[in-house]
Amino acid sequence: MTVAAPPARGWGGIGAQLAGRLAKLDIRGPLDLLLHLPLRYEDETRVTPICAAAGGETCQCEVVVQASEVVLRPRRQLVVRTADDSGELVLRFLNFYPSQQKQMVVGNRLRVFGEVRRGFFGDEMVHPRVQVVGAGEPLPEGLTPVYPTTAGLAQSALRKLVDAELRRHVLEDPLPAECRRRLGLMPLAEAVATLHHPPPDSDPQALEARTHPAWQRVKFDELLSQQISLRKAYAARRARRAAALQASGDLTGRLLAALPFALTGAQRRAWHEIAADLGSDHPMQRLLQGDVGSGKTIVAALAMLHAAEAGCQSALMAPTEILAEQHYRKIAAWLQPLGLEVAWLSGSQRKKARSGMLARLAAGEAMFAIGTHALIEDMVDFPRLGLAVVDEQHRFGVRQRLSLREKGRAGVHPHMLMMSATPIPRTLAMSFYADLDVSVLDELPPGRTPIVTKLVSDGRRDEVIGRIRDGCLQGRQAYWVCPLVEESEALALQTAVDTHQALSEALPGLRVGLVHGRMKPDDKAATMKAFEAGDVQVLVATTVIEVGVDVPNASLMVIEHAERFGLAQLHQLRGRVGRGSADSLCILLYAQPLSQNGRARLKVIFENTDGFAIAREDLRLRGPGEFVGARQSGLPMLRFADLDRDVALVESARDEARRLLRDEPAVAEAVVRLWFAGREGLLGA
Ligand code: ADP
Ligand code: MG
Repeated sequence: MTVAAPPARGWGGIGAQLAGRLAKLDIRGPLDLLLHLPLRYEDETRVTPICAAAGGETCQCEVVVQASEVVLRPRRQLVVRTADDSGELVLRFLNFYPSQQKQMVVGNRLRVFGEVRRGFFGDEMVHPRVQVVGAGEPLPEGLTPVYPTTAGLAQSALRKLVDAELRRHVLEDPLPAECRRRLGLMPLAEAVATLHHPPPDSDPQALEARTHPAWQRVKFDELLSQQISLRKAYAARRARRAAALQASGDLTGRLLAALPFALTGAQRRAWHEIAADLGSDHPMQRLLQGDVGSGKTIVAALAMLHAAEAGCQSALMAPTEILAEQHYRKIAAWLQPLGLEVAWLSGSQRKKARSGMLARLAAGEAMFAIGTHALIEDMVDFPRLGLAVVDEQHRFGVRQRLSLREKGRAGVHPHMLMMSATPIPRTLAMSFYADLDVSVLDELPPGRTPIVTKLVSDGRRDEVIGRIRDGCLQGRQAYWVCPLVEESEALALQTAVDTHQALSEALPGLRVGLVHGRMKPDDKAATMKAFEAGDVQVLVATTVIEVGVDVPNASLMVIEHAERFGLAQLHQLRGRVGRGSADSLCILLYAQPLSQNGRARLKVIFENTDGFAIAREDLRLRGPGEFVGARQSGLPMLRFADLDRDVALVESARDEARRLLRDEPAVAEAVVRLWFAGREGLLGA
């Protein structure tokens, strides 16, 4: 869900055009301006003589212009020769405005700030920041703030706006003195002033690393307002009504008795937590989290049976057709022997089959529905929907999850069970997911063998094909995953078709199948079925197999251009193998040269098989915002706190949020108003 910004209007003496630029920085009023804090600082408190400025170091020199000319070779540029008492320094500008040229006329005294390099012209600075000064002009006493800014808004202009606001505005502290004392926090106004203009004796390292008490205060408040908002959303949900599902245990007992396996301890625990929620008359909002292959489906099936025992319908929605169909087949195979009917709904279904299903659901005759987004279309009517299950929940937007919830009877929310194989690191769980209850499957079913991962350069492709041939001739099966081509779906498709062709030729005597996103669902399903039955030995696929596909005999996987995939994706893909008792092998083919980030990602996936460890690394490499897709979910983003490093702050903010909401709700309101003004409404979704 994206939030459309209202057209910018001027405020506080700021015109509409400037207001528009500020809005791009999320600055929509005086308070936002005050809380627009520096990214970093520059030290302009000292002047370094040119002769003492070491190559590669950023420093400030004070120089007088000796000569200035535009040269045309090796390319057009402005070259300004300058000097101080100790030596000579060349300033070079590859892009420049006439106004800059005027600043640097012969005889002008300049303070230049930048990195000194031993260049073609001797000691030089390329694109230094330049300020014209008079002789003897005093140096700033403190560090100079550098703000995040945007096109058309100069750093110096932004600085002036912030400074004017700092003079005008007395920032009221939302936290009472007692509370600040107890938590050892600096007053907010002092913290904000310090961050904009650190006093001369501030520790630059603490400012840089954001461990300075002023940063701690700001980060604490930000986290606190997030915790308060989340707790309020949680409380609002607890206040809604749902049908309390009283179950007899008859159907679930019969399914458990019929299963060829016993539940793992983790599955049993999760199932009990879910059953308890379903029996309550507040809507469940639970995330069932478990690594790929941990066995979430059976837990979902038990929950659906529980609902049926209480006379309620349930629906399971999955993000892709292939995944939805796998669920359908698996769950139908469990439920049909108990004499229960499962309805199937998908976009590609024939009209007649579909309207038959819809009629049976609307009449309340079919108690279970499994499908894709087709489940949330308007004409789908569940008169007695008691439970909605969403698999791979992070692949759906907030709105889609809401639409499924709205399928319940007016005023009564269905219980929601969300499932995800993407593990959430603890700090994220405590912050962005704080309004969900979480059950974790932290144990894999027994009898799995670990997956061996190999990194192989693309140059050794023929060897890899040989290995796949040998494995498949011995009765194993393989996935061959085609590269992501983000820029072009057509190109991705072509690559898949070409790969399929090439492998079919290179592997005579083996059947090679192909699935991709643009295929007719019937053809796709037929190929998947043939692969599951072992009639197809090698399955060439685009990332459609990424989620949920379960073929235990497929124990080999090749991922082409693995460096293009994200960590979570690689982990999910790899989780398709290692589901049976055979040794599993995942070969990651990569193309040279590898980018630094590509190399880092492959190293993580090579060294780790635990989804939690991988998620942690992913969080470190990508930052938490992207990780949770928080932009999409509409949750207010954290601007200052770092969930990786500020664990202790998250914890104390969580405790304090609880206390404030209980004892000092007015204070809690004030905190949220200050930090998330106008944005906290999104949390209700
Ligand atoms: P995921 O959590 O990735 O959705 P699935 O529900 O698809 O995992 O389960 C993976 C495989 O493990 C399936 O074949 C499933 O039938 C099997 N399975 C689930 N629970 C157990 C168990 N307790 N013991 C043995 N096999 C199990
Ligand atoms: Mg699954």
